[in-house]
Amino acid sequence: MAKRKQKTIKRKIARSVSRAVAEKSATVADCAHSELLRMLTYRRPYGGKTVDQFCAEFIDHLTGIEIDNFGNRILTVGDNPSILFSSHTDTVHFSDGRQKIIVDQFSGLVYKDDDQPLGADCATGIYIMLKMIDAKIPGLYIFHAGEEIGGLGSAWIVDNNPTLLDNIDRAVAFDRKLDCSVISEQSSGRCCSNVFASSLAIKLGGNFAVDNTGVFTDTANYIDLVAECTNLSVGYDCEHTAAEYQDLSFLDQFIPTLIALDWDSLPVERDPAATDYGTDFVGADPTFDNFDQAINFVEDNPEWAADLLFAAYKRGEADQLFTASSKQDAADILCNAYGDQSTRYPDPDFLAWGSDLDWDTGRDGLQDQDHSAAVSAAVKKWGSK
Ligand SMILES: [Zn+2]
Repeated sequence: MAKRKQKTIKRKIARSVSRAVAEKSATVADCAHSELLRMLTYRRPYGGKTVDQFCAEFIDHLTGIEIDNFGNRILTVGDNPSILFSSHTDTVHFSDGRQKIIVDQFSGLVYKDDDQPLGADCATGIYIMLKMIDAKIPGLYIFHAGEEIGGLGSAWIVDNNPTLLDNIDRAVAFDRKLDCSVISEQSSGRCCSNVFASSLAIKLGGNFAVDNTGVFTDTANYIDLVAECTNLSVGYDCEHTAAEYQDLSFLDQFIPTLIALDWDSLPVERDPAATDYGTDFVGADPTFDNFDQAINFVEDNPEWAADLLFAAYKRGEADQLFTASSKQDAADILCNAYGDQSTRYPDPDFLAWGSDLDWDTGRDGLQDQDHSAAVSAAVKKWGSK
């Protein structure tokens, strides 16, 4: 799905380049996201002058903002919040200074035509957080310094100011490409529970789904201190390259959704003291030798299985689930949710990226078995739907 979307966006860019030439007279102020566009004119390598100017213009004037000894900007909104919102002030640019950007009002894309990245990673995350602060959404807002050179700002907090996170049980970064990811695993392993991630994906709507292919952002440094740590797509792609672009129209929907979201209702299930190296780590998870074992798992973890199914429904890949009146129909959905799972832990990845072959293999396999237990687990959660 991500690849399809990527191709669509690339086609959109190709179509719009000629328009962009004609649109050169369009000013930044014409655009709904003019503050973000101005942010994108700053190249901000860590430790440089421009990142300081950038922070002075956009962040440091906020009432109550604190700057720690590493240069992280920290703001608390509300009374003793339990959620942390995360972005970073630096970019991967090699040199300081300002830069020209291109805005295509028709496609809603912003990009550049030189050999340097745009820096929507992570200007967009900062912009989103400023909008949430403006809307008085309670949270501990951290604008980290030095993410691009190894998550230094967040590592500094863990080493020098860990009590800052004492009351935090969920940490949400706005630092992921495309429009579809609620990151459940980063390079260091599992960062949030699937229950948390799928619940958040459902609330975000659109193309969002659980994605276990995260790499690294600051919230990865908090997984031993904070139960649920994730990273969300913010509508850029090709970050760290000259082809980087931001889809502004994605933000038209995404920011109001974030502002309306009931963050306190998100479940907190993961034990930050537990080690889980993630699904790609051999031996980290149980595996199934046959479908009976898989079905036993579903019986033992009905909530988990039901969340998978509901995520499939939200993605429009399981419509029958709610129109079905029979167990057989519900069973078909369950088969889809398993995908090619005869030897592996059920994984939301298969909902997000599974090929048709995976789905058919899984369906055929499960239909050869007595799947009544798995179906009843789903029915337990979703009633007769
Ligand atoms: Zn980033």
